This record gives sequence, C-alpha cells and structure tokens, in this order.
Amino acid sequence: MHGGIRRSQYNEVAEAIFLTQGFVYNTAEQAEARFLETGPDEFIYARYGNPTVAMFEERIALLEGAEDAFATASGMAAVNGAVTSMLKAGDHVVSAKALFGSCLYILEEILTRYGVEVTFVDGTDLDQWKAAIREDTKAVFFETVSNPTLEVIDLKAVADLAHAVGALVVVDNVFATPVYSKALENGADVIVYSTTKHIDGQGRCLGGVILGSKEFIRGTVEPYMKHTGGSMSPFNAWVMLKGLETIDLRVRAQSASAQAIAEALVGHDKLARVIYPGLEGHAQHAIAIEQMGQGGTVLSLDLKGGQEAAFRFLNALQIAVISNNLGDAKSIVTHPATTTHQRLPEEQKVHLGITPGLVRFSVGIEDTGDLIADVKQALDAV
Ligand SMILES: *Cc1c(COP(=O)(O)O)cnc(C)c1O
Repeated sequence: MHGGIRRSQYNEVAEAIFLTQGFVYNTAEQAEARFLETGPDEFIYARYGNPTVAMFEERIALLEGAEDAFATASGMAAVNGAVTSMLKAGDHVVSAKALFGSCLYILEEILTRYGVEVTFVDGTDLDQWKAAIREDTKAVFFETVSNPTLEVIDLKAVADLAHAVGALVVVDNVFATPVYSKALENGADVIVYSTTKHIDGQGRCLGGVILGSKEFIRGTVEPYMKHTGGSMSPFNAWVMLKGLETIDLRVRAQSASAQAIAEALVGHDKLARVIYPGLEGHAQHAIAIEQMGQGGTVLSLDLKGGQEAAFRFLNALQIAVISNNLGDAKSIVTHPATTTHQRLPEEQKVHLGITPGLVRFSVGIEDTGDLIADVKQALDAV
C-alpha cells in the first residue's frame, strides 16, 4: 500500500502523476553531472525513468520480494526485454512449449533469427528438461502456469536443473500473480509480469514489469530497455500503482470464486473436462498448492460439442463478457482456438491441448452464486 511512495512538496495522499518526458537542470554543470555514469541517480528522461514509474517499480519489487524492477510498456516488452537483454548469438535456451502465443513467437521466431538456439520441451516432464539442459545453456524460460491449458510447472525442480549448469531461470508469472507468487524462494532468477492482467485488474492499461537482482535489472535490463524504447508511460504506471492497492482483495476473491465454479462444474454432462489447478483431479494439483497456495483466478472448460458448443456457451453467458484479457474484475471468456491461438497450425493446437471445445474463463469479482448460475444456464443452452 505505502511502499515506494515519493511525495512532492505538497504532501499528497494519492501518488502524483508526473506526466513529463524530461526534467530541468538548474545549471549546465548539473546537467553534465547527471549524464555521467557515476552521476547522481536522478531523473534525466522518461524513457530512462520517471518518478511515477519509479514508485510503481519500487512497490512491486517490495511485494514480490525482489531487489529491483524495471517497468515496461506491455507484458510482451517485458518478456522480450528479459530474454533479449541477456542473450547473444550462439547461446542456448530451453523453453516450455506451452506458451502464450506472443511468448512463443519471441522464443521460436525472434531469438532464433538472431542466432540463439532454442530447445522446446513439455514443461511438465522433468525428464525432458533434464535431457535438454546442457553445460552451455544460458537460460530456461516458462510460464509457471501455462495459458490457456493451465499446466503447472515445477519451478523448484526445473530451477535446480538450470542452476546446476549456471543457467538463469526466467519465469512468466502472470497466472500466479504477485499475491500468491513464491517464485524467488522457489528458485526463479528473473520474474516477468504482464501488468495488464491482475495488476491493473480493471482492463484499462497495458503494462509489464521485469523483476530480479539489482545487478540484473540495472546492469543488464535497464541499458537494453532505455535504449530500445519499451518503457512504461507515467500515466499507466499510476494506474498500476492504484491497482497494487487493491490487488490482494481482488485476486483472493477471484481465486475463491474460481475454485467454487470449478467444483460446481466437475462432472457436468456438457463438459469433457474442467481444467483448474485447484481441483484435486488436476495433474499438477500438488505442485500448484505448493507454489501458489491455491488454484488461481482462471479455469478452462472443454465442451463436449467442440467449437459449435463452445460458441453457443459463450453467446449464452449473461455476466461474463467475450474478450481476451484475463485477471480483470469483470469475468471474461475466451475461445483460444479461434482468437489468441488462431495463428497456430491445427496439429500444434492439438499438441498443446487447445481443442475446439476449449473455453478460458477468467473469473472476476462478481457474486460467486450469480456466476455459477450464469455458467449453468449457458451450459443448458448448449
Ligand atoms: C497477456 C500475457 C502476456 C502479454 O502481456 P501484454 O501486456 O498483453 O503484452 C504475456 N504472458 C502471459 C502469460 C500473458 O497472459
């Protein structure tokens, strides 16, 4: 709530929005001093840093328990910045294959174009990680909970394998959220969030953040980000700061609701599967509880009737809106096969478990009973 605040001379309660690209120097000598590498750590230009952005960075670092953070323009700017800033041609990376579409694009299309070798594994299979990680592996990358199939990866076990060869563990931690994250104590070196999701939590702004050691954030990430232009706007940082004030209340309520909805739907005759890490029947239930304490704010439903059934279900819902964000205070439903993962070839979709009947349900803060009743009436309409 209070961490990282920088009050102006007016002693305002709510954080100020410093909507300025630059900062005035009192003298030419002061300007010269500030540009020196060894100069005072004060603001120069908003692409390098800004007081409102710095407040957000400090607050999220405190919440995550990380030494430092760099805020970015979007979650993808954070994923790209985290991996591209540390890698060079000839390096080797091992990545889970079940990834958010744009993360997959960076690992599969961009890094390889610049001479980085990437090996993809089934993230839930430790033997595949063991076989793929080599003496010269520089980094491993995975989503701690994958989007949209909600596979949970054993962070501690993968981190042990990576650290044995000196590789950095980079995790996209969106589904765990900073509320439930124990990523650092479980062995992650670098944590990335799309702050567009639970951190804003009300669907207003894009944003991202990279968290890690001071040395990594200021020595590796900052030079890359400040010269390539993916910094967060001060206005968006202010929205994210406000989001951090309520994230704990929202995410706990959303997770409790998601658990109740999942339990109410298990065994429903219109559903082939209810996928939710908080259910005992989930393949990585024990890991999810160990890593996050609960199952998260998102569940996925696989309808028996394929795409036609999924579309009828989506169109019959009266509370959840059809969109593609997640972590929002409003419940949001997505049909990944025809939207977020549309570009993937059919066989890759099947391989990743993105079936025609799959619906991703991001649970909001509406009344739990109303949400369950709505889902049930929409299933009746199928
Ligand atoms: C949404 C999302 C991203 C991308 O974030 P943007 O803010 O949309 O750029 C990356 N990873 C995961 C797991 C996501 O859900």
